[in-house]
Parts: sequence; structure tokens; C-alpha cells
Amino acid sequence: MPAPLGSVSSGSVEPPALAAWLELGSTPLRPIARCACCPAPGTSALRLASLGLLVPLCAACREHVAQARTHRLAALLASLLLGASCAATTPLVVPAWPWWSSALSGALAAGLPLALWWWLRRAPALGHAAAAECAALARDGRLVCLDPSFGLALAAANDLPVRLAPAPSWLLPRWLGVGVLLSGALGLGLGHLHQPETRVLNLTTESWTLEVDGRPLATLLPSRVESSAAGAALRLPAGRHHLLARARGGAVIAEARVELRGGARYLYAPAAPEICFWLEERTQGSGAAAAPSITPLRSDTGLHELPSELDRWFSPLPAGSSPLLGSSGGRLRALRQARCLELEPAVAKAFGRD
Ligand SMILES: [Zn+2]
Ligand SMILES: [Zn+2]
Repeated sequence: MPAPLGSVSSGSVEPPALAAWLELGSTPLRPIARCACCPAPGTSALRLASLGLLVPLCAACREHVAQARTHRLAALLASLLLGASCAATTPLVVPAWPWWSSALSGALAAGLPLALWWWLRRAPALGHAAAAECAALARDGRLVCLDPSFGLALAAANDLPVRLAPAPSWLLPRWLGVGVLLSGALGLGLGHLHQPETRVLNLTTESWTLEVDGRPLATLLPSRVESSAAGAALRLPAGRHHLLARARGGAVIAEARVELRGGARYLYAPAAPEICFWLEERTQGSGAAAAPSITPLRSDTGLHELPSELDRWFSPLPAGSSPLLGSSGGRLRALRQARCLELEPAVAKAFGRD
């Protein structure tokens, strides 16, 4: 496993005080017959990063460097496996947790093997410059040799400028964080997928509490007027649920057994048969003056499945001649509501009430 380009990974718990920093030229380096980690003769070499640079090592150092690389690779694989497993199972095992919890659990689980690897990493043996790589490329392109005498000898053999400066502190190879990042991203995606967004509206005259499978989730105040800020946006786990709206005194206002699909979007507005909901849609090029197309939403339970792209909630599409730039490629879509007895003629016609 080559050392990561652009980062320094010494592999030592306490790096030596001084390291040799070589300015590399354009010509390939002439190797020297000395181990880069200890004073023994270099009998073999390990490839460093993408420069094609071979670092000479003795047999013993080659073994401990290879071992350190294996440990690092094992930590990365364990991080990926554990993180992805946790991100994937969290929304299934504990569906009541918020949708972003799968990202958090995935990232934390992916970090565990890395923390263990960091805790168990070895100090360099006596007489050795490092436990892992003893030479690496710094971000500025210089070659850092943790054994200063090796660096000075290599610079002299290649006639390269060299400077003794404090050794770089331990830096994690950047690719080690891949498991944490991927698990977090996977968790975010799966959290969204497993917990569809459900907007809940209280269109009755008294406040009530929404209970999902017997568990109170949110108390909603009445909002009789169409308003883009009305209601509460909840994320409910996908699957079958028993939804129940309970008034403050304990009376059941409405209840329904519903099935929520992962990745979908819903509106739940129970106990309001006098309110009609519909989708208004206008595509770019049809002109602002053209009447939008109307799609009535009908439901016996008060639960409506909505399209995934919705530009406006409970407010009309904009009037005027400005170009329409909706979320679905030049198409604007709005969710609307009104009392069924007070619908505009075009909407009433779509509902078959003209
Ligand atoms: Zn050696
Ligand atoms: Zn060594």
C-alpha cells in the first residue's frame, strides 16, 4: 500500500525531533545502499506514492513497514464494513430515531476501528526511525525522511538541496477517513428513504395530538386558512402505521391505518372532509396567463401521496411573465387547498363539482 500522496504518515507514535526535508528535482532519484529506517544496508525497496520512488529498506524494516500497512488496510476495511452496516440497519432496527441518526451511527461506527487502530499502533523499535513508512511526500512536494542521516546521504548522492527541520507530527492518511464519509453519506440517503416526509395539517377547530402506533408525536394547532407555514413536517418510518388524532380531552378525532412508502412524500389532513386539496401545475413556455392544470387529490383516510417535486405548499403559482424555473425542469407544481364549496370554477370542474 503506497503512502498517500500529499500527506505525511510517519507511522511512529513519537516522531524523531528532526527530519531531513529534500527538494526533489525532475530527474529520478539515484537510490543509495542504506536502509531508510535503520543504519543497516538496504537490501530491498518499497514503492512510495505515485512518484515511482523506491525507498531502500533492510529485510527487518521491510517486514515492519508491510505489517503496519496491513494493519492500516484492515482498519480501513473494518471501518467501511462496520459503518455501512450500521448506517443500513439503524433505520430498520430503531425506526423511531430521527432520519439523520443513521448517518450519525454509520459515521461513529466507521470511526471505531480507526480509533482502535490508532490506540494500538506501535512505537518504532529502538534504532528505527518509524514503525511504518519512514519516508513520505509532504504536501509541498518535498520528500521527508524521518531518519535524518538517511535523508542527508540521499541528498548528497543526488546533489539535492536538503534542510533539517522538525519532523512532521503524525498525520492520518486521508484515505483512512473514506469509511466515515461513505457511511455518513449512505446513512443520510437511507434515512431519507426509510423515513418519508409527512406534512400533517390540523384543519379542525380544536388542537389535537397525532399519535403514531400509540406514541404521541406532535401536537397541532388548528390552521383553517391556506398557509405555506401551516402544519408540521414529520418524518415517519416507512411501513404500516396506525395514525390517530386525539383531542386534548382524550376524544378520538380521526384514525386511520395507512402504509407509507419509502422515498415518498405525504400530506395527512384528517377529519376535514369539507376541505379539498389539489395539485396545480404549469410548464415553462405555456405562458403565465395560461390556466394551470389541476389534479384533484382524493382520500378516505386524509392521507395523500404527493409528487416528490413540489415547489409551493399551500400558495398559488406565481403570476407574471417571468420564466418558470421549477424543481422539475421548467415545471412549477403547487399543493393547494380550499373549502370544497368555495372552489374556483376551473378547480371545481376538475373535482366534478361544476
Ligand atoms: Zn532497516
Ligand atoms: Zn525500521
